[in-house]
Amino acid sequence: MNLPVIEVFKSIQGEGICVGTPSVFIRTGGCNLNCDFCDTSYSWKDKTEMNIDGVLEFVELAVEQGYNHIVVTGGEPTLHWEKMEILLERIGREIADDPWELYTTVETNGSLYQAMYSAGVDLVSISPKMDKINDAYLNSLRSYVDEPLGYFSMRDMQFKFLVQYKQIDEDLEKIHKLMENIRMERIIDHVILILQPMWHKDDDYLKVTQQIADYIQTPEIIHRFSGFHLRVIPQLHKFLWGNQRYK
Ligand code: SF4
Repeated sequence: MNLPVIEVFKSIQGEGICVGTPSVFIRTGGCNLNCDFCDTSYSWKDKTEMNIDGVLEFVELAVEQGYNHIVVTGGEPTLHWEKMEILLERIGREIADDPWELYTTVETNGSLYQAMYSAGVDLVSISPKMDKINDAYLNSLRSYVDEPLGYFSMRDMQFKFLVQYKQIDEDLEKIHKLMENIRMERIIDHVILILQPMWHKDDDYLKVTQQIADYIQTPEIIHRFSGFHLRVIPQLHKFLWGNQRYK
């Protein structure tokens, strides 16, 4: 069986709560959105396919070397969810010695809901694209938030938002509104809300991160987001390697 996987590689996870973790990345091709700021736009039109056995072999070798974090990313992996589920099921059955040996993250823009916990996904990492939100997108995000409520309750979901210091007020207002809209009456203790300073090659990324970290500690912002597990986490791979591919 072939998979719409355009690259597999080893690096460290540069984003979110698993930042810094040595990881095996499996990147699918194609995306249903086309964001202006996309740093993997090369993946949109890439129709490369890899044989599932080749992908499994790569993952197995990495696991033997000691990697235990698998990241399925894109593009948009949920476009190909049926096939990616088969891959994850085979990774769990054929490569992991026990179900807890490997930790799996799936990164998605959140617009095309797919049930993930039954596929053994440990962390659903959702990056909503604010300028693309419509009713269908919103319903999809609500479904993601609902799923673990009926399954188990732990902090196994993160929402990541790119923010810019020069428009931080506007960004935070939109994010808060969206999260309240998704939450409605739900208790979403399991959701971590991450602000990711947007990287630009001409900016001093450390300074921008510091400015945002200072800003979110103002009393008004702390109070406004008190119902969420708010964190500022910059993209570590941008600090280390800028926009290099396979990093
Ligand atoms: S959703 Fe993600 S992969 Fe798709 S275009 Fe936007 S930033 Fe790129």
